[in-house]
Amino acid sequence: MNDEFFAALRARVRGKILRGEPMARHTSLKVGGPADFFVTPADRDDLAALLVLLAETGTPFLVVGGGYNLLVRDGGIRGAIISLACFEEMEQLGGGKVRVGAGVTNRRLVQFMRDGGLGGLEFLCGIPGTVGGALAMNAGAHGEAVLDHVEELVTIRDGKVLQTGRDGLDYGYRFLRLAPGEIIVGATFRLEPADPDQIGARIAGYLEHRATSQKIGFPNAGSFFKNPEGAAAWRLIDGAGLRGERVGGAQVSESHANFLVNRGDATAADFLALAARIKDEVRQITGIALEEEVRIVGEE
Ligand SMILES: Cc1cc2nc3c(=O)[nH]c(=O)nc-3n(C[C@H](O)[C@H](O)[C@H](O)COP(=O)(O)OP(=O)(O)OC[C@H]3O[C@@H](n4cnc5c(N)ncnc54)[C@H](O)[C@@H]3O)c2cc1C
Repeated sequence: MNDEFFAALRARVRGKILRGEPMARHTSLKVGGPADFFVTPADRDDLAALLVLLAETGTPFLVVGGGYNLLVRDGGIRGAIISLACFEEMEQLGGGKVRVGAGVTNRRLVQFMRDGGLGGLEFLCGIPGTVGGALAMNAGAHGEAVLDHVEELVTIRDGKVLQTGRDGLDYGYRFLRLAPGEIIVGATFRLEPADPDQIGARIAGYLEHRATSQKIGFPNAGSFFKNPEGAAAWRLIDGAGLRGERVGGAQVSESHANFLVNRGDATAADFLALAARIKDEVRQITGIALEEEVRIVGEE
């Protein structure tokens, strides 16, 4: 089936196609087994052609952005990984509105906003990843979250393009409800006119704060667990005496107890075992059930 499917992919999709691609190359934790196929469609038409083929063959798929919030198990991904790296458009529409493709990096978006004198998304400057990933996660920092600035989200569901205003979205802390297989292809943001120098100063302040508070030094995926209501996950982990705790090559960071790091030779199984131990000990001590912020996907 895989040879046949590969041939069909090559015949019908113009973008880049990799076979048996190690996901460790595409995740900031640097772990994860191979994806059967890793496809980067060239544009929207190419994505549409890919989705038709996937539907015809009943092939499962998963969209990834920068892989900064993703733990892929060691057995890898059956089916296709889709990267929207070619969805890079950014366009000012007037009235403070900006249309952005899902593959744009947060860093590029923030620079574009600064240069265009539009404020509001400065908090995204230190959050690694793509706009698609930020929207899917409702990424945020400094008390702000990205979906609060969205005017319209553009997704593809069952082959149809949907445009949904913010009021129609079900979202919250690090959460956006998407239907199974729904893909974010872009969004329109509504922002406020602001002085580029002041925007630049806010960005510099946020980056400096991050540089001093998050000296991690090893591959990681940012905060591994969500903050439970009224508590900080790092404090609970620290309080359980788990700072520096290690399973194989996975370790609770010495500098930030909610960051799990790869000391060089970690496997996904190491991270999963360490996360399970943390959840267990924190629950026993505090009664609080920690929930992963990192998305865990793939086969054992
Ligand atoms: C050092 C460091 C610091 C971090 N700091 C923060 C922080 O301050 N705040 C914060 O919120 N996060 C933070 N993160 C986590 C991470 O950067 C964010 O979650 C980011 O938004 C992930 O974007 P991504 O493109 O890498 O998404 P991925 O990790 O590739 O994907 C994340 C999830 O989104 C889904 N997804 C991605 N793109 C799409 C799409 N187009 N359509 C549908 N689903 C999609 C994926 O399937 C997956 O479930 C940090 C990470 C690191 C490594």
